Amino acid sequence: MESLQSPVVTWELTRACRLSCLHCSVGAQAKRSPLELSTYEAYKTIDQIAAIRPQELTITGGDPLERSDIYQLLDYARRRALAPTLTVTASPSLSGSTIGTLKRNGLSRMAIALDSAKPSQHDAARGITGLFGSTLLAIRWARTVALPVEVNTLVTRANFAELNTLASLLGDLAVERWNLFYPVPIGESKHLPMLNADETEQTFGVLWEISRKASFKIRTVEAPHYRRYAIQREAGAHTLNGAPNGKLTANDCAEQIFISHTGEVSISPFLPLTAGNVRYQPLTTIHQRSDLFMSLRNPANLKGKCSRCEFRSVCTGSRARAFAVTGDLFATDPLCAYQPGAFAAATPILQPVEVT
Ligand code: SF4
Repeated sequence: MESLQSPVVTWELTRACRLSCLHCSVGAQAKRSPLELSTYEAYKTIDQIAAIRPQELTITGGDPLERSDIYQLLDYARRRALAPTLTVTASPSLSGSTIGTLKRNGLSRMAIALDSAKPSQHDAARGITGLFGSTLLAIRWARTVALPVEVNTLVTRANFAELNTLASLLGDLAVERWNLFYPVPIGESKHLPMLNADETEQTFGVLWEISRKASFKIRTVEAPHYRRYAIQREAGAHTLNGAPNGKLTANDCAEQIFISHTGEVSISPFLPLTAGNVRYQPLTTIHQRSDLFMSLRNPANLKGKCSRCEFRSVCTGSRARAFAVTGDLFATDPLCAYQPGAFAAATPILQPVEVT
């Protein structure tokens, strides 16, 4: 079997959360599910994640702080040489003292949601008054204990005109990375004011310009065609300036593994298809041999314009969105405005970068 690139792993430790944000995309619940992985199973899951040698591990929720074993799990992850990022919510349990304890128990990074630079707009987007202030306070507490911070932003019609303002705020807050989530229309997310493909392309232009001067990294989630956009723009910069700016890395093209709170494995929290369950099969086996991962690794399975696209080795589109919108895992990602062949026609001496 060909050796696989080190994947990026996201682990939904729980769906329990004290907040009840509007349009919650993860199906958060007030209480922990009795079907959640137990503490013992969570230890075994950490062993399985360590065995797969991920290039990144993000532990998310719900709110992982709703699990009383969170500190011992972080400590165990550290002892297994993992460096997890923890996605937290700005709930009453997130105090300065909690953040300090998380850091002492092995947390490497904290991620938190911020959808607008305007307090009223962020609070309105989440449906909770005062959340903006609590979020900025948590970021500042993390800075006082030298804990790097990532910010997660859900990109919709409500905030796409203020991406530059938000970027300035993130620069002031000295965050390490900005993760921009492009919604997949499932569950409550169906009610979000979603961008269309042309508007998404406009946001890519804004992000690309921000990436050239920002102090933080930018990552898109469920929008892999940002890689196609960046390659197109970098090829233009190469033609004009003599060298691309090198913002794309192999990490941007890594396979994604998602483990749910009940141990189901998929490629995304937004794809309701399972490749297996870590309760019954090793994660390495699921990743290497399951039908889901193997079929997604074969570009010949793609359909529509994604099947003809010269960027499919670095993109393939959001399979979760294709499935949510069409019911076909391999259909075209409807959020991509690109017409295959346009890049080669416009820049005949430049070819797309092959990333394997
Ligand atoms: S057509 Fe498909 S493979 Fe090509 S850039 Fe768009 S989403 Fe990616």
